[in-house]
Amino acid sequence: MADAFDRVVFEAQEVVFQWGDPGDSAFVIEKGCVEVLTGAGTAQRRIAMLTEGAMFGEVALLDRQPRTATVRTLVPTRLIRIERSHVEELLLRSDSVIQYLMQLLLERFRSTHDAAGMLHRQGTNNSRHYPDSTETIDLHKAAVRTLSLAQDLSDAIDLKQLELFYQPLIALDDLTVAGYEALIRWWHPILGLISPAEFIPLAEKTGLIHRIGQWVLQQAVADWSALRPICADDSRRRPFISINLSAPELASSRIVAEIQNCLGRHHMDPRELRIELTETIIIQNMDAVSVSLHQLRALGIGIALDDFGTGYAGLDYLQSLPFTCLKIDKTFVQQINQSERSLHIIKAALELARSIGLSTIAEGIEDSESGTQLAAMGCSHAQGYYYAKPMPLHEVASWNLQRRPTGRA
Ligand code: C2E
Ligand code: CA
Ligand code: CA
Repeated sequence: MADAFDRVVFEAQEVVFQWGDPGDSAFVIEKGCVEVLTGAGTAQRRIAMLTEGAMFGEVALLDRQPRTATVRTLVPTRLIRIERSHVEELLLRSDSVIQYLMQLLLERFRSTHDAAGMLHRQGTNNSRHYPDSTETIDLHKAAVRTLSLAQDLSDAIDLKQLELFYQPLIALDDLTVAGYEALIRWWHPILGLISPAEFIPLAEKTGLIHRIGQWVLQQAVADWSALRPICADDSRRRPFISINLSAPELASSRIVAEIQNCLGRHHMDPRELRIELTETIIIQNMDAVSVSLHQLRALGIGIALDDFGTGYAGLDYLQSLPFTCLKIDKTFVQQINQSERSLHIIKAALELARSIGLSTIAEGIEDSESGTQLAAMGCSHAQGYYYAKPMPLHEVASWNLQRRPTGRA
């Protein structure tokens, strides 16, 4: 990303690119002036003059076709170059609907210009692959899926298609159940089970996340009376239920009151609720998040930093925000025996958590060795398929009864 944009300087009358060149970058004129020419040799004619602020070369950059014009500077000119790889990276991160709209616009632009004979292509490398290229068909499918899922998601709560699954969180010192994380599931009537990794981002974009978040909170708090007895009966430790909050939810000014009201209605002790949030949420909304987190913590609610190590934040917010727990991301945990780097990152995270008084949960443990190793390294809790996969509420009691004394299901 560091050199995604760079500055290139041309003397007067230099060619920036010419007809037939590969279209691998676009340019913005920072200072100076260029002319755009079509045709070949003496038949070249100027079709445009562009000055400061104008962009050129972007169409070939998007559709990967060779240049269909020549661009030459008229005076000494300074350009900012935008690499195709950077644009592709940005596009990949954008919504599938936006990607598809871009592709359609591009196709329409090309067909209008070709029909008018303005940007005439010559040679053999002229095969048109759209509008029915595999790429366009895939984009079309992804966009239609996104749009129809967004539509269906808005009815999912009323149609009772959402469900909370619970995954046990295990205390590593005695392998008892310390609490549960609530993880949402969507049973789509036609498409089957849809992962929260797909529909939560969609809910965030469409604003539905507020209704979904309220539903999750209500449901988890209501289910707690059934789950609480399936935790270790240990006077030293208070059992808890953990819910995930996303950025728009935490940024809402009503979130603290909503949580407080919900706990009050169900007579639930706030110290038995924990919220999980990621670094990305914190970075995006530092001010709003900070106020809400301090208020929630003052009520006694626990606050876990989820997916630790995967964001791009510094560590300063760990000092200013009232976290009680740090969750080490599964990408590190699952590499603990293959990668020295992951091992060092886990050690450093555990040390950091210990030094500022946070409990720790290692996510994604899939074998007994990793669990034992993490316990020996001082990690206080574990979560992972080795102990139990997330399961519907009605399966939790029988899972607990079947557990062997080793702590494994
Ligand atoms: P997360 O908060 O990091 O949740 C942990 C994810 O790791 C869950 O995926 C869980 O099923 C999975 N997992 C647990 N143990 C293992 C293991 O041993 N191996 C592997 N490979 N995976 C394991 P899930 O349930 O698909 O949830 C994905 C993400 O969706 C969650 O990641 C969370 O960010 C989001 N999410 C889930 N439920 C909610 C919700 O109610 N509200 C919000 N805002 N986000 C949610
Ligand atoms: Ca989580
Ligand atoms: Ca996580």
